[in-house]
Amino acid sequence: AITANQVSARFDIQPAKEPLSSEERAKRMQNPGFGKVFSEHMIVIPYNEETGWGKGVLKPYGPIVLDPAASVLHYGQAIFEGFKAYKQPDGSIKTFRPEANAHRFNASARRLAMPELPVDLFVEAADLLITQEQAWVPDAVGESLYLRPLMIATEAALGVRASKEYLFILIASPSGAYFPQGVKPVTVWISENYVRAAPGGTGSAKCAGNYAASLVAQKEAKAEGCDQVVWLDAVHRRYIEEMGGMNIFFVYKENGETIVATPVLTGTLLPGVTRLTLLDLAKKLGFRAEERRISVDDWAEALRNGTMTEAFACGTAAVITPIGTVKSAHGEWKVNGGETGPVASKLREALLNLQHGVDPDPNGWMHKV
Ligand code: PMP
Repeated sequence: AITANQVSARFDIQPAKEPLSSEERAKRMQNPGFGKVFSEHMIVIPYNEETGWGKGVLKPYGPIVLDPAASVLHYGQAIFEGFKAYKQPDGSIKTFRPEANAHRFNASARRLAMPELPVDLFVEAADLLITQEQAWVPDAVGESLYLRPLMIATEAALGVRASKEYLFILIASPSGAYFPQGVKPVTVWISENYVRAAPGGTGSAKCAGNYAASLVAQKEAKAEGCDQVVWLDAVHRRYIEEMGGMNIFFVYKENGETIVATPVLTGTLLPGVTRLTLLDLAKKLGFRAEERRISVDDWAEALRNGTMTEAFACGTAAVITPIGTVKSAHGEWKVNGGETGPVASKLREALLNLQHGVDPDPNGWMHKV
């Protein structure tokens, strides 16, 4: 729990009066999966246009009360983030690049005409909640405490304009290994009937509406026997953008060199923190890392002529997910014989070792809670 000298003037600490027994917590943390189990506390910070961000409160996890006219329920001003806290070999807890998530949160806020939250307040809120919930941080490599910050428009007003009141909320969810049976390549569906994001739209923001609009395509992918959707650009309907909730990487062997490439940030895809990290880690591992424009035809051709040796997706939740099969209305291609490839494995291991404190952290990406 939180000690007196950890409490800043920016938060009221109101912990649960009847904390869970350690037996009950252990039970809930057993095979938690992803996003189904929540820790005992949460943080809320109210915002009002006149007075700015108010005092935050750490309090027991539970339902929130909203006016039925709250503008988030009608016009969808809602953004969120996702990052993780990892147990370190010495028992301490660190988060991975939380400032990057704070900055992206504010970029999303600007796009949705919502107020920005000071980066240090975002990080302090996370540190405070994690400190309170340290017993909820799992120990094993591949397991972590997932942090989910969000902001919603709470003003009760039906006029179509930016809300004058908001609520920042932070919840935490212990998450298990994404692939408890070992990493398994997925089958992806190239969506041609739906687009995720158009130029000038909200594609690079992490706003709720992007996910709402993606679900029907995800359903279509499932109906086609696939696990995930791959999105194409909205203008040419040809260039690969990203996957459901992950960025995408391709591995090429060209003139004996291994190239790790990911689509360029065009403003219509989410700038993933994992994506940015892998571009750097790939270089450290001796690969050439590149941002490219890659069309669906290039993808098929590179698989046919053997220059593409692997493809994988990456994101906070599942780290690295190999792509074993690509399907579209026009055909089906295997990547690396449907197996996990060596470059994806190496990058995955390097990232997990960094996050769990097994490897050194020369870039200072790990933030001590
Ligand atoms: N694209 C989308 C659409 C996402 O939702 C996510 C998850 N935040 C990502 C990519 C990967 O981003 P990150 O590596 O920061 O988790």
